[in-house]
Amino acid sequence: MSICKRLSSQTKLVPDRTKRDPILEIKIDQHFDSKIYTSGSFISGCLEITSQADVAFQNLELVFKGVSSSQVSLCQHAVLPSIQTFLQRNLSIPDYLPSNRILQAGYSYSIPFAFNIPTRLPDAACEHKDDLIRERHLQLPPTVGSWVSEDSMGRCVRIEYLIDARLVLTEKKSKMPRQIQSSHLLRVKPYLPERPPLCIDSKSTIYRMSQEKFVKKSFLSRNVASITASVTQPPPIFLSDNLSTSGSLIKVDLQFTPISANAPLPDVYAQYASLEATTTHSLGHMGYFPDEQKQDLMGSDLIVSYRTSNRLEIGQSEKLVWEKTSMEFEGTGYIQDSSSSTHSARESCTSTNDVSDTGRIIYKASLLLPIKVPDTLKKLFLPTFYSCLACRTYAVRLSLTSGRYKTTLPLTMPLQIVSEGCTLPPYIEKSRDTRYEAEQDLDDATLVPYEQVPVV
Ligand SMILES: [Zn+2]
Repeated sequence: MSICKRLSSQTKLVPDRTKRDPILEIKIDQHFDSKIYTSGSFISGCLEITSQADVAFQNLELVFKGVSSSQVSLCQHAVLPSIQTFLQRNLSIPDYLPSNRILQAGYSYSIPFAFNIPTRLPDAACEHKDDLIRERHLQLPPTVGSWVSEDSMGRCVRIEYLIDARLVLTEKKSKMPRQIQSSHLLRVKPYLPERPPLCIDSKSTIYRMSQEKFVKKSFLSRNVASITASVTQPPPIFLSDNLSTSGSLIKVDLQFTPISANAPLPDVYAQYASLEATTTHSLGHMGYFPDEQKQDLMGSDLIVSYRTSNRLEIGQSEKLVWEKTSMEFEGTGYIQDSSSSTHSARESCTSTNDVSDTGRIIYKASLLLPIKVPDTLKKLFLPTFYSCLACRTYAVRLSLTSGRYKTTLPLTMPLQIVSEGCTLPPYIEKSRDTRYEAEQDLDDATLVPYEQVPVV
């Protein structure tokens, strides 16, 4: 069955050289330039083929696919690209084209399609054997490199979702078939939910979750106390449907341990916070998580990291209230006595002269710091994701300072950006025609995990 209609006599003529070539146009229902799709989104439309001459064709390929590419520069001119088609879904319905395989002059043909963006990639998209890596690599990655705002992924990584149409023509004079192609990009912000906080070793070379500094009253004096600041991973930042970001909250646990009497309580405040966005990409399969462990230098594939730093706004924090806590020594160490009293750092040099030189009195306080990406920053912060060729991860660098003791305490902690803009369960909106579904097999066997392209 073919659906075609005769073209109007008003149809604009195309230049001679391409006059005989059919024109392919992909039309998507209710689509607009800034539209963002997500996991489970229903997409329908049609491919229109218009022909000004009788044209014989061999085949029509109409697919929805996801392609990622990664380039690694070895030196000034040598660039190694790697390309992976991680998703490929057939949308074509042969019945909608003439059975004699000839497009008639003056007719246009409309081939409808409808599909849902999947919530998970086909198994063949990741060749890694580790279940944890496969689970993350089989989540849909977000579009990279074609947003209106800069996504800070650099020029070396691209991830595209597109509807791709290719008409293979029968050439009388040449044995080689010729293709006419048209494609339509779709921007996808997939469902990438919150994961449990990372387990961070105290010896981590990536993060510094706790910092202790010994402090003096003056340059020439002896140490009078120590200040310790500790953090846990802050709650994630949420990326909304309109790509704006929520804030987060850093809780800093402070401990002040006087060594000598009359050491005044410190004033501690946040001096600076930044969001570090790290893009890690490779020519092959990345078998590790860059935000959890250092790169395996013995791995065979070249892996490159690219980092940008963006200042974060720090909101007003509550006045610091120090709580005095007694520590009693018991065999293997100190145990905390819950009886306590509170002091403000502003209470002029709150006397710590009840502290004995054994250091059995400590002071504790909590600093709650609301953080936010500035509205003026015209950048897009993609959700945290891990794919075979590229990953995006985040960390917050926080610098605390105590003016009274002229010391700083730098901390680095992981942060997730999550995207939960998907209505679950998926596939609520069903395809309107069961024939579409029959043609939309996820042909796992046709996916190539990644393909390295020869040196350009
Ligand atoms: Zn993988």
